[in-house]
Amino acid sequence: MKLTVVGGSPAWPNPGGAHSGYLVSSEGGRLLLDCGPGVLARLRKVEAWPRVAAIAISHFHLDHCGDLVPWLWGHLLGPVKGTPGPELWLPPDGRQRLELLSRGAHWDRAFSIREYAEGIPFDAAGVRVLPRRVPHYDEPTWGFRIEHEGSALAYSADSGPSPVLEELARAADVFLCEATLLEPEQDPHGHLTEAEARDAARRAGARRLLLTHRSVEHPLEELVYEGLEVEL
Ligand SMILES: [Zn+2]
Repeated sequence: MKLTVVGGSPAWPNPGGAHSGYLVSSEGGRLLLDCGPGVLARLRKVEAWPRVAAIAISHFHLDHCGDLVPWLWGHLLGPVKGTPGPELWLPPDGRQRLELLSRGAHWDRAFSIREYAEGIPFDAAGVRVLPRRVPHYDEPTWGFRIEHEGSALAYSADSGPSPVLEELARAADVFLCEATLLEPEQDPHGHLTEAEARDAARRAGARRLLLTHRSVEHPLEELVYEGLEVEL
């Protein structure tokens, strides 16, 4: 597997950056984890239209799903009009949430829409994906563990501190974890500090920690940058 960081901005954009988007490549194809604003434009810099077998959305905050709308219009009116798009794996009840992003649009003409379920693995783009619910304020949110040929990648999505993060990242080769906060939150929890992310990685025994979803004004060691490629 190979991980490519397409966008790693927090809920506001870093200068010239894109919001959440992480490509997982294997011989089975490419899986895009989240599809925030700026991700499609960045992918289009390297190919006319991204050849992606599947997209998996962690939650419906706009910085993680906003570019599904222009991706849709590319298939309905744009350069890939009339061609089938990728599988789109959504949280439970995700079809209803799509309607709120662009009401009445023909989402099924652009995407092969699926909904995953808590704790039930699914296969997409040649890899196995385990979705696990993580705490993120009032928004139902799932982190992912992706496995392929003995390698494991864990993605926190947006999450407050939780033992689920340790389960997702247990002995993972790479733990891609958010580190949005400068100070720990009180209830309700929805994000992590650097220390909380490192603590989760240490408890999990993850081999490598990559931090993301962070403002450039507060740089860290192991903070990802757009274009970073990591082989697993
Ligand atoms: Zn969020």
